Amino acid sequence: MARVLTTCIYCGCGCGLYLETEDGMVVGSYPSRNHPVSKGALCVKGWNAYEFVNMLDRLNAPLIKSNGGFKEVGWDKALDVVSKRLLEIKEKYGPDALGFLSSAKTTNEENFLMMKLARAVFKTNNVDHCARLCHAPTVVGLAATFGSGAMTNTISEFEDADLFLVTGSDTTEQHPLIGSRIINAVNDRGARLIVVDPRKIELAKYATIYMAQDNGTDVAWINGMMNVIIKEGLYAQKYIEERTENFEELKRAVEQYTPEYVQKITKIPCNLLIQAARLYAKTKKAMIVYSMGITQHTTGVDNVKSLANLAMLTAHVGFASTGVNPLRGQNNVQGACDIGALPDVFSGYQKVTDDAVRAKFERKWEVENLPAKPGLTVTEIFKKAREGKLKGLYIMGENPVISDPDANHVRQALEKLEFFVIQEIFLSDTAQYADVILPAASFAEKDGTFTNTERRVERIRKAIEPVGEAKADWEILSEIARRCGYKGMDYSDPSQIMDEIVQLTPIYGGMNYERLDPFGLQWPCPSKDHPGTVYLHKDKFAKGKGTFMPCVYVAADELPDDEYNFVLSTGRVYWHWHTGTMTRRTSTLNREVPTGFVEINPKDAEKLNIKKGSRVKIASRRGEIETKALVTEKVKEGSVFVPFHFSEAAANVLTNPAVDPVAKIPEYKVCAVKIEKVTS
Ligand code: SF4
Repeated sequence: MARVLTTCIYCGCGCGLYLETEDGMVVGSYPSRNHPVSKGALCVKGWNAYEFVNMLDRLNAPLIKSNGGFKEVGWDKALDVVSKRLLEIKEKYGPDALGFLSSAKTTNEENFLMMKLARAVFKTNNVDHCARLCHAPTVVGLAATFGSGAMTNTISEFEDADLFLVTGSDTTEQHPLIGSRIINAVNDRGARLIVVDPRKIELAKYATIYMAQDNGTDVAWINGMMNVIIKEGLYAQKYIEERTENFEELKRAVEQYTPEYVQKITKIPCNLLIQAARLYAKTKKAMIVYSMGITQHTTGVDNVKSLANLAMLTAHVGFASTGVNPLRGQNNVQGACDIGALPDVFSGYQKVTDDAVRAKFERKWEVENLPAKPGLTVTEIFKKAREGKLKGLYIMGENPVISDPDANHVRQALEKLEFFVIQEIFLSDTAQYADVILPAASFAEKDGTFTNTERRVERIRKAIEPVGEAKADWEILSEIARRCGYKGMDYSDPSQIMDEIVQLTPIYGGMNYERLDPFGLQWPCPSKDHPGTVYLHKDKFAKGKGTFMPCVYVAADELPDDEYNFVLSTGRVYWHWHTGTMTRRTSTLNREVPTGFVEINPKDAEKLNIKKGSRVKIASRRGEIETKALVTEKVKEGSVFVPFHFSEAAANVLTNPAVDPVAKIPEYKVCAVKIEKVTS
């Protein structure tokens, strides 16, 4: 058997793994012993990351909608239809009648081409991807406070930290190789662990202090910790004076968040909050770790800013084994953001509104008049489509029918489009709505790079030829551009795309495929002799001085009432990934959790006569689903949790599409639902 070193396709840990191949098929995967994240280990998804590649229902030829179904056509015909229809819509309604959804599952090179296609060929900034739905507040909140919207530190630094403050991250389920580092630090070295999460997640068992706040009250408890730290004089006065600004404003803002006041809002007992504040402030090497429990709120940006405030207050940024560490979900969500698959920035977070930046891209791409107005976000794209104002949509490898909030409205939006094309590896729930489906190569069938959660840009390598007639996403995008009359997207290899990225993107400026061998480089890496950056904001913040940005607690958009009397939160489970298109086709994973469920507290279950395995109906103001009950103390009384992987019990039929006003992320973590046992 041959073996090829590549990068895992699932979570943002970015583990290095070998794919084993035999007779043109991938037949196994196992960890790289020397990779800095995996170090000889993988989670169960990594060990099984090859199985879906060989599935017989992979899309292997272009499909065009015909008589309510799909018929196979050749590439020429499919690409002609796509380019012709997109150009017609641009001509008839203007560039902004088109939307482009890029993908955190595809490579940096492919995301770069998707945003280049949207901007250079179709002259719209309506390009976005699923980071909008997971870490958009991280990009905004950390850029505003620190000057860089990324994880400040590095996964290997978890091995030296003395304390972890983990909030809104079910780390052992979602980022297992990071979760295991935290558990090892606690068990082997006596590191302290503060867990703040409404659900009693696995890490809570190892916690020195566990605080179960009510969903959506994060600004309040973080302000409360800062109130205690300031009142007790535990803040880092010299660091604050030398390296930050706006401290007096923060001081005033958190004054009212006394432990008693915070307890009323969050239900966190005063004594726990005080202990947590003291412990965090007094421990030198303390890392904040968070994920979507913090970001997926209408106050997502404020939640992130508040964590940044807390870290600056105690001098916990700019040193090894400290920092504010957002764990990015998808394998390449960091890269898709870095590379500019966002409506307001080109690659490297260079603003589309900046004349000099646009001029630079125009020169390199040999085009004129790149659009200067920021485009539509994911949620706005679907809203405009539903209103009939957005006419054409191009999706690469995303499945919004299952992943986006208020799924019934997403379906309505897709039905309303005049033209919809998708690049996919399987006939997903979303692909069923497409006019044209273009079969894409999987991660095992192409070259490129992913950027993991610690800013490590690392190679993926082709192990086998694409199935059937499938093509790599970058090849398809290049073909579409060519047929639209643009000559600036002809590449024979993804390394050429990376070379273009580095010329235009200062944070990737010193990279090329040679330098990325074998295990990548961490940005910023501005020049060819730069070794990459392990942790950010050493000596000074990326923006100069770190800025305290005081935030005021605001309740979630939709709270329980007499009719909808439970709080619903959604998320993932260890065995599955996102909308399940790959993990549900992987027998080992699907056997463990074959379908959806709702977690409900035993006291609530008793009141509703619900037993383990009972069928229950869950309804919100937007729709209803049926699923089976899992009775567990993991969720608080009055709360339920539904994983969003399963189309037959799609949590996002229920979720609230209300968004954070700045980052435009929907509030997946709080909405009001009612529950009843299904009797027939
Ligand atoms: Fe893949 Fe994440 Fe598991 Fe590593 S921890 S093997 S990257 S899913």
